[in-house]
Formats: sequence, structure tokens, C-alpha cells
Amino acid sequence: MHTRSTTVPRNVAPNPALQRILSLIDNACRPSGRPSVQLLVVSKTRDPEAIASVAAAGQRAFGENYVQEALPKIAALRELGLEWHLIGHLQSNKAEQAARSFDWVQTVDRPKLVAALARHRPDALPPLNVLIQVNIDDEASKSGCSPLDIIPLAAAIADQPRLRLRGLMAIPSPDPDMDRRRTAFRNMGRLFSRLQQDSAGIDTLSLGMSEDFIEAIEEGATMVRVGSALFGPRPRKP
Ligand SMILES: *Cc1c(COP(=O)(O)O)cnc(C)c1O
Repeated sequence: MHTRSTTVPRNVAPNPALQRILSLIDNACRPSGRPSVQLLVVSKTRDPEAIASVAAAGQRAFGENYVQEALPKIAALRELGLEWHLIGHLQSNKAEQAARSFDWVQTVDRPKLVAALARHRPDALPPLNVLIQVNIDDEASKSGCSPLDIIPLAAAIADQPRLRLRGLMAIPSPDPDMDRRRTAFRNMGRLFSRLQQDSAGIDTLSLGMSEDFIEAIEEGATMVRVGSALFGPRPRKP
């Protein structure tokens, strides 16, 4: 009879770049003694084969920016049972497809989107996990709500049984001055603590990308979104 150790995951093909990022994450968590931070692998512009090879090393959660780009990849990889996060700006007219295909939407920033996602989340699926995207410091960006809008948006989400609010997300402006980025992360950490006091089930603060995920963890991130540090530089858009 074929037996298998329960502690060793099956079909695991080592991926040195993934291992390196996971150990950097672990090291950044250690001084604060908190439980490990979740890695979201950002797979925009990467093809299903590249995603499957990271999945084969044990990674479950992947992030995509565009609904249209993500749908064929999600379909192609369906049997792997991966967890898909939408991390790009979501137009209301794409909310139906997003609600049907993703497990998380991290970019909820207005009441209209709350209503559209709730209306279209299929009953056969568990509630859609959502994060409120906050515009913490990027005046040039039209995405993300004001910090003052967090509590009313959280209340609107709590009214929707097909949605489950998990926390906050931000994309601070890519300031070359890392101290200014840290300030933005820290301000998000304060807003996150306040939301945790206000609402039940808040466990996710999504902050930090390839260039600054260590700093984000040091300032309180519970999820980091990493693409190019794992896959290499993205091809430039034509
Ligand atoms: C592209 C992207 C990332 C990953 O960026 P890298 O620098 O490749 O790690 C993370 N978050 C969001 C919202 C993105 O659009």
C-alpha cells in the first residue's frame, strides 16, 4: 500500500525565488513575534504556466489587476484550487464578472461597488472577501477612498450578507524616500487598528510590494503583494 507523510505537501517542486521571499517575510515577522504574514503573489502579465509553477511550490494566493486578463487564467488553472484576489481598480460594469470569478476583491472604495458586488456574488459561492482600498497619500491616484469614508463603507459592507469585510488595502505613492513610505504604512496601521475595534472579523492589512514589503511588515502589514521580486521584471507595455 502506498503511504505518504502527512507533514510533507505533495507534488512540491522547489522554487528558490519563492523560498527566498518567504524567508525574508519570516525574518521580518520575527522581531515583533507575530504570526507569519501572508504572501500574495502578483501574477499580472504572467501566463498560466508561470503561475502553475509557483503553485507547484505550494503557493495558493494570486493577485491580478485586470478582470479581462484574469478570467482566462482563472479558468485555465481552475483544477489547482487557487485563491484569486483582484488588486486593480474595478469599474462597476466589471463587478459582475469579478464577483463570479474572484475569492477576494481588495479595491472596494465606493458604495456603488459594494452594492454591485453583493448583487452579483453567486449564492453557490461563499461570501466574497473584500478589503476597503484607502487613498493614504497618493493625490494623483483616483483609486481608494478617503480615510474618513472607511467607517461608512464598512457599515455598507456589513449590511451585505454576500460580502465579508476582512480589512484594508493601500498602494502608497512610490516615494523614493522610504521614510515617507513608512509613514504611509504606519498611518494605515492606525486606521486598521481603529477598524478592528469597530468591526468583528477584521484580520487583513494588505500593504507592500516587491520594493518595500519588508518595511510594510515592520509597520504592521498582514499581507504583502509581490510580483517582480519573484518572477523578474514585467515586460513593458507596448
Ligand atoms: C503590480 C502590483 C503589485 C506588485 O508589484 P511588484 O513591484 O511587481 O511586486 C502589488 N500591488 C498592486 C496593487 C499592483 O498593481
